[in-house]
Amino acid sequence: VPPAKDMPLLAAHEPPAFEIVNATGVSNLLLVCDHASNRVPNSLEFLGLTTAQLDDHIGWDPGAAGVARLLAENLHAPLVLSNYSRLVVDCNRPLSSVELIPEQSAGVLIPGNRLLSPMQKQARIEQLFWPYHQAIDDLIDTRLSAAGRFHPRVLLSIHSFTPSLRGELRPWNIGVAARQDQRFAQMLFNALSKVAEINVGFNQPYSIDDNFDYTLPVQGEGRGLLSAMIEIRQDGLKTSEQIASWAAHLTQAYLHIESQLMRLT
Ligand SMILES: [Zn+2]
Repeated sequence: VPPAKDMPLLAAHEPPAFEIVNATGVSNLLLVCDHASNRVPNSLEFLGLTTAQLDDHIGWDPGAAGVARLLAENLHAPLVLSNYSRLVVDCNRPLSSVELIPEQSAGVLIPGNRLLSPMQKQARIEQLFWPYHQAIDDLIDTRLSAAGRFHPRVLLSIHSFTPSLRGELRPWNIGVAARQDQRFAQMLFNALSKVAEINVGFNQPYSIDDNFDYTLPVQGEGRGLLSAMIEIRQDGLKTSEQIASWAAHLTQAYLHIESQLMRLT
């Protein structure tokens, strides 16, 4: 059996596992977008799914990358985006999760994820999951070693969510989540709540869970960063105007709380 590195998933002309925007951005804020893309490596033949299925929310977080890119630009913040679909390997799941390489998602069977050998799974982890997280690690290392330059160090993870789940409507336009240290999330929640037309959830529609989250527990809490995850409802991310509007709200919210963040120890 060949080792996983001898089973290349990506051809030379395909994008690498991740993209970094503003690698040398001067902001205290580091942005990450785990579900930015619905791309599938050519070698995996769309995982046996149709284009429509991959374009749907099971393949990625529609709109999240657009908001993240504008926010990175507005705040001069570095941003790491995954370049491949969460259905290939989910960069926000622990390696032990059954949803890491899901055999079904929201009732859709994923043919290309069935009956995988341990080596096939390992190839996805080594070639897509770890390079993405290594890129985040490296940016955090740089920030931790630049004594005094980045204070405090802040991680914000950007996702989007479906307007309804199992027939249940979700009333929040945006949700902010955090677990151990909720100070940054609370500030963000307060700042966003001041905008009248926005219904903001706190630890809604999702909270941080070790069984279903990797990025916040490991890259945020695990490295001592002030961290939060945001989820924006997908019906508010359908047009470029809506995406720009969310980026503007988040930019304003962050600028509003930045001085409070800098006073935290
Ligand atoms: Zn997501």
